[in-house]
Amino acid sequence: MEIVDNLKPINTLKQALDIVQGVSSPGKMPVPAYNLPIDKCRTGRKLRVMKDKKGRITVCSNCYAGKGNYKRYEKNILPALYRRLEAINNPRWVDAFVYILTHQKQILKHKVFRWHDSGDIQSPDHLDKIVQIARRTPRIKHWLPTKEARDIKNYPGPVPGNLVIRLSGTFVDGPPPDYINTSVATSDVDKVTCLASLPKEHPKKQIGCQSCRECWDATVKNVAYFNH
Ligand code: SF4
Repeated sequence: MEIVDNLKPINTLKQALDIVQGVSSPGKMPVPAYNLPIDKCRTGRKLRVMKDKKGRITVCSNCYAGKGNYKRYEKNILPALYRRLEAINNPRWVDAFVYILTHQKQILKHKVFRWHDSGDIQSPDHLDKIVQIARRTPRIKHWLPTKEARDIKNYPGPVPGNLVIRLSGTFVDGPPPDYINTSVATSDVDKVTCLASLPKEHPKKQIGCQSCRECWDATVKNVAYFNH
């Protein structure tokens, strides 16, 4: 029965969304995104309890996906995130994602997609599936933020030009990591380059990404977010 199911073509967005167990809708993004449980971040969950010798906290210790609405509605949100995690093993996960990215209206309009507004790459195989999806959706720009340096540095083979992998810095106010595209979190508003991340009382505060696409732009070496 499962084999027959696996052979069925994906014909509707609902069918594709059922296979991947839905996508997320982060407020500031122009398009749907995708998220996984933060307790399954392999590097992130270690960083959540770490400080450096100068007492600097890690970016993960203050993860927005562990507070605010995520925390308030965790009874509803967490089971969905775990279903999404399990769905990665579905043999049709890649096909379903390709279907979503080539049929969902907002994604078609803006031609961008953000991976992991919470959560991270689960394994080298998971990364490879994301690379396959990016390769099969050349008109969509993908932004993949990650803390999994080993997976991305050891990835065997080129990643397509429409997939921008940004390795995130470890410590708040720390330096960017050693990688092609990076991001950092800073407590200094004058160092912030993502205007959408500024505190709401800041005069340059931008509501959502609007026309900014810096995170998806491979020519932008580093993006600095305000650490809330
Ligand atoms: S840098 Fe630009 S694209 Fe990235 S999150 Fe901020 S506003 Fe959005």
